[in-house]
Amino acid sequence: MATQKIIRSRYAPVSISDDITIPQFMTRYNPDNVKDDKVVHVDLLSQGHLTYGGLRRAAAKAAWGLVHNLCLGHGDTVCIVAQNSSDFVVLAHSIWWAGAVVSPINPQLTAKDILHCMNLVEPSVVFVSGVYYAKTQEALRRYGGRRNPKVVSLQDSIPGLKAFPEDIEGESDHDVLPPFSVGNLSSKDAVAPIIYSSGTTGKIKGVKISHYNHIINILQGRSSLPLRMNSEQRVIFFAPYCHIYGLGTVVLNNMWLGNFTCVLTNFDLETYCQQFEQHKATLAFLVPPIILQLVASEIPRKYDFSALECMVVAAAPLKTALQEKVKQVFPTTKIIQGYGLSECSPSVLMQHETEEEYVGTCGKLLSNTEARLVNPTTGVDVEMGQEGELWVRGPQIMMGYVRNEAATNDTFVDGWLRTGDIMTCDSNDNFWVTDRLKEMIKYKGLQIAPSELEDILVQHPKVVDAAVCAVYDSEQASEVPLAYVSLARPYDTCSREETDEILEEIKQWSDGQVAGYKRLRGGVFHLQELPKNASGKILRRELPAKKKQGRIGV
Ligand code: AMP
Repeated sequence: MATQKIIRSRYAPVSISDDITIPQFMTRYNPDNVKDDKVVHVDLLSQGHLTYGGLRRAAAKAAWGLVHNLCLGHGDTVCIVAQNSSDFVVLAHSIWWAGAVVSPINPQLTAKDILHCMNLVEPSVVFVSGVYYAKTQEALRRYGGRRNPKVVSLQDSIPGLKAFPEDIEGESDHDVLPPFSVGNLSSKDAVAPIIYSSGTTGKIKGVKISHYNHIINILQGRSSLPLRMNSEQRVIFFAPYCHIYGLGTVVLNNMWLGNFTCVLTNFDLETYCQQFEQHKATLAFLVPPIILQLVASEIPRKYDFSALECMVVAAAPLKTALQEKVKQVFPTTKIIQGYGLSECSPSVLMQHETEEEYVGTCGKLLSNTEARLVNPTTGVDVEMGQEGELWVRGPQIMMGYVRNEAATNDTFVDGWLRTGDIMTCDSNDNFWVTDRLKEMIKYKGLQIAPSELEDILVQHPKVVDAAVCAVYDSEQASEVPLAYVSLARPYDTCSREETDEILEEIKQWSDGQVAGYKRLRGGVFHLQELPKNASGKILRRELPAKKKQGRIGV
């Protein structure tokens, strides 16, 4: 057997006992002695304010109602289909407080996708906000799970539904629940959220993250950002709380630390900049497409960003040229790139804020984390400086995929999690993302599975075969999905103009069936024959080069 070349974190390990749950962690440790009445969260949807102590009291009160009025308990899963808001934060914490599992579904998904998520986790209760009620209802009508989930409205009043928290919580101030305890068991075995990810293979899967995974990842992240992870910071946030970036950073980390977060419901550059100035924000959690807007648009020039000390960029590749541009526009702001994935709760790599800034790297392994870079073809660890797939091991690695043993077994090799990302590592243990092995497209930080779009395209009567891949769009600083289709007879022999019309029709047809972020923004192209291996598997990595050979589509 070839020797494993294990790269170990250079930082001191962090630890936490494995009998602590998230609500216990939230109430027992107040690392910065934050005062009870400090406002820690405000949303622009309802202007709802949460204070440090208020969040904990509201969660304990709502948890009592979840248990007594909705019969929720340990082992139950609760889906949330809603926008970012203070109510969302209270709801998530009250579900953990009651010992149940939070499973936030991206509200931009279609009814079909929402149904798929519900079939995976079989929720006991679904919380939904008014704007997403129609499609959630459609998903519920087609839902064939073991039991019919109860439906409760969040953020809006929906006729016929009970509303959270007012119709759920008890009437007396004494109707509160103690924070969920695992007793003699381990918080490593208690699922906290289930997050949806396509992982390395395409179809949406439910990632099971334990209470322990999340808590330790907060402590790991804090040790890489010792100057920023304190209650003094002011953050303006926009990423959805259904994604691990929002759930981990704000709903858990910031609410534990007691810094201040103002959250947007939908990203709008002007509003974002206004809030920055108004709150004198010191810390920004960003994704590359938003960074591009901050440096390329004139809007930010109208606002005062002088309080901004640090930008943390994660969730998608940050191109070196863009990072250099940010440095010119925000010369005194520290830029820290991080890397993670839902399966790692999410953080794995981060530039240490006290170390010299390197452009392009996503940093070093967080405390307690080990890695290998493995040649995906030979399965042998690569030499220093060579490219290999990142395999990781550490206390933040997920428990597995919900009800999907095959995918879990495929993702783990002898306890190592295969990330599906290709990286190199230098002699200072800085990691650089160079490519992606797994079949995932990241549009503005959100996942798109090529196979999902292919399955839709081949249902079009003029399409016989389809293949989708990622291409980088520098105007959006994001990957976008691009499709190649083989056309059915006689459409494959049409004139150039006719083909363009057919391709446009196919694009519109596919775009109409998916969540807005999954549209074929890279275009649809015609190829007589798609590149496949002997067993018929599409060779997606050969696709971008085919663009030159195919007929130009839309
Ligand atoms: P998600 O589970 O949605 O957070 O997606 C995780 C994937 O996003 C990773 O496996 C990477 O492919 C990509 N990703 C996250 N952070 C970075 C980064 N800093 N640079 C490049 N890709 C990233």
